[in-house]
Amino acid sequence: MENCLFCKIAEKGIPAKIVYEDEAILAFEDIHPKAPTHILIIPKDHFASLNDVPEDKGDLLGHILIKARQIARDKGIAESGYRIVLNTARDSGQDVFHIHFHLLGGRKMSWPPG
Ligand code: 5GP
Ligand code: ZN
Repeated sequence: MENCLFCKIAEKGIPAKIVYEDEAILAFEDIHPKAPTHILIIPKDHFASLNDVPEDKGDLLGHILIKARQIARDKGIAESGYRIVLNTARDSGQDVFHIHFHLLGGRKMSWPPG
């Protein structure tokens, strides 16, 4: 996908601090972290948001969650706790239209979210 920031990161055209990668997904540090641990996890294939992921891509979404859990363990926040956020479309505040899961932890978070 041309002119997509996260496609460019996935293709290594724009640098990022990568924490995990396999053939299907990439995890990298958020450039403006909102918590001591703030990692973005994306599929390498372009989908603008959850609204655009085909029904048969459930395995891919599940794979992202299982790897998010592994990254949380590796970062030492699995026991203290973490939050996975998937902003979708306008009201959520989604800014980058390549689906990405936020993995946030390392501090106490409030509920409900703003
Ligand atoms: P959204 O609001 O779309 O859910 O989240 C987009 C996230 O991408 C934000 O947390 C923002 O800090 C992050 N971000 C935006 N541009 C870049 C970038 O060029 N590199 C990295 N690593 N993160 C970015
Ligand atoms: Zn993209």
